[in-house]
Amino acid sequence: MKFSSYWLDSAPPFRGGITTPAEGRADVVIVGGGFTGLSAALSLARKGASVIVLEAGRVVGEGSGRNGGQCNNGTAHDFAGLSATLGLGRARELYQAFDAGVDAVERLVMEERIDCGFTRCGKIKLAAKPAHFDKLARTADILAREVDPSVRLLTPEALTAEVGSPIFHGGLLFPRSARMHMGRFGVGLAEAAARRPHPREQPGHRHRPPGRGPLPRLHGGRRPRRSRPGPGGDRRLHPGAVRLVPAADRAGRQLHRRHRSIVPVGPGRHHAG
Ligand SMILES: Cc1cc2nc3c(=O)[nH]c(=O)nc-3n(C[C@H](O)[C@H](O)[C@H](O)COP(=O)(O)OP(=O)(O)OC[C@H]3O[C@@H](n4cnc5c(N)ncnc54)[C@H](O)[C@@H]3O)c2cc1C
Repeated sequence: MKFSSYWLDSAPPFRGGITTPAEGRADVVIVGGGFTGLSAALSLARKGASVIVLEAGRVVGEGSGRNGGQCNNGTAHDFAGLSATLGLGRARELYQAFDAGVDAVERLVMEERIDCGFTRCGKIKLAAKPAHFDKLARTADILAREVDPSVRLLTPEALTAEVGSPIFHGGLLFPRSARMHMGRFGVGLAEAAARRPHPREQPGHRHRPPGRGPLPRLHGGRRPRRSRPGPGGDRRLHPGAVRLVPAADRAGRQLHRRHRSIVPVGPGRHHAG
């Protein structure tokens, strides 16, 4: 039996990183090169920030490279139950946020030309018992009426034709869900971030010295505050000198010097010293 991840085993290696220690200043330092960190880095770099991503292991080597490969729309919770708990408006917002998430992944794949086989193949919630089918039918009804007219209830016969197995009692099809090769997507995301052109290479650039001027807003929210240079001056990367974006989901892991790879993105690329 093989214990390594298929996504990681069959993805091309990421070649845009630096393995020497980080030095210099950046607008933002991100800890963790999974989907969260890499997409934040790309988004910030697109807004003109200089970013360093610190990754303790391999880019997308943890959760992002070891998952089911589904890029699902729809909430994991039953929509009728969610509406009863949160109210219809909030449940609808949540559902639409998941839709927007899948759209955002698709947009990234297209814009950055990431070869990861992103396909809107759909997702089916299966009824393992007859009672499950009744519940799915009620969910299909409320979903189609309130938030997603694309969902389709599959009778046991229609489901058998779809999946080739008669053991289920019907299902609910979400045609907007997608799948992709997670390793190729992650490496593509990292490559896209690492190849962001320096702003001086972009048309209409106005010089902004590194570490000066307001930091970009994220999602229309407040701007992060820029911290003052510490005792090492402007060149040194030290705690407090840059904005740290905690992107890792396994807090507390030690960052060993020899295991770091650094993805410099955006303006004022930072060099190993
Ligand atoms: C078994 C399984 C199946 C899943 N299936 C799906 C699915 O089908 N579809 C889906 O959408 N989601 C799925 N998920 C969830 C999805 O994989 C995660 O939500 C997603 O990968 C989280 O990305 P992340 O960037 O936040 O975290 P990670 O991908 O875990 O990235 C965090 C990174 O931070 C690094 N790091 C941690 N600590 C430090 C440190 N101190 N210094 C430097 N670096 C550090 C780690 O090495 C890691 O690379 C699944 C998850 C699991 C576990």
